Amino acid sequence: MSAPQSGYQVTILRYGSRSTVKSDVYLNYPVYDEADAPIEMDYFVWIVRDAERTILVDTGFSRHGGEVRGRTFLLDLPDAYRALGVDPASAPTIVLTHAHYDHTGNLDLFPGSEIVIAEDELDFWTSPVSRRAQFHHSAEDADLAVLTRARDEGRVTAFRGAERLAPGVEVVQLGGHTPGQSVVTVQTSDGVVVLASDAIHFYEEYERDMPFTYVADVPAMYRGFDTIRDWVATGGVQHVVSGHDAGTLGRFAPGTGELAAHTATIGSLT
Ligand SMILES: [Zn+2]
Repeated sequence: MSAPQSGYQVTILRYGSRSTVKSDVYLNYPVYDEADAPIEMDYFVWIVRDAERTILVDTGFSRHGGEVRGRTFLLDLPDAYRALGVDPASAPTIVLTHAHYDHTGNLDLFPGSEIVIAEDELDFWTSPVSRRAQFHHSAEDADLAVLTRARDEGRVTAFRGAERLAPGVEVVQLGGHTPGQSVVTVQTSDGVVVLASDAIHFYEEYERDMPFTYVADVPAMYRGFDTIRDWVATGGVQHVVSGHDAGTLGRFAPGTGELAAHTATIGSLT
């Protein structure tokens, strides 16, 4: 990659959690012929910053979206953004890796922001098939309404395939989990990070090739694992950040300040 060896810093912010079992999160779990077991699921958003810009990757679930599904709120996301120095009035660019409820809540906090999302994802969630139970289960109408309103206001950039957001920051569509599921690669002072979002919910999912239970296209999900493995094997990526693994924060440098228990960072601001 030809991006400058300069310094974005990635902040991983955990705002929610859930306790469940493997048979609930892995697609057709009986095919593995293994006993069921508990698994913890965390909910994250990601902040990419350098001296000049702030890019938010996903915006978590809304109060309503989390409550109706019985999720545990570890902190209030609007307050947490403020505590981390993210000012909605500065209209940071927002990348939506996909349009599920736990990634697109709170968009209304940022009424001036540009929103970047795969065109396939936007098209899907504005199409009739997205109303069918297997898909609609994972979305919130209120969040989708904010997204379509932003589109009508001209604030949505819908990309095809991949898009460079800034030097050293790229969003790449992999599909699989949803039609336009995307990941974000970031050049930090500590190497290239892939924010895998729900292309990889759990490290076990990726390492043992076990697709998540909610999936639009299983072959594409397997190919997404392969793509990320290839990036890692060829040295293009040094750090894989999962979308929901409860061990994620522990893999990276602990955060500081009042949200230290819920944050980790990769790279330093230069
Ligand atoms: Zn998710």
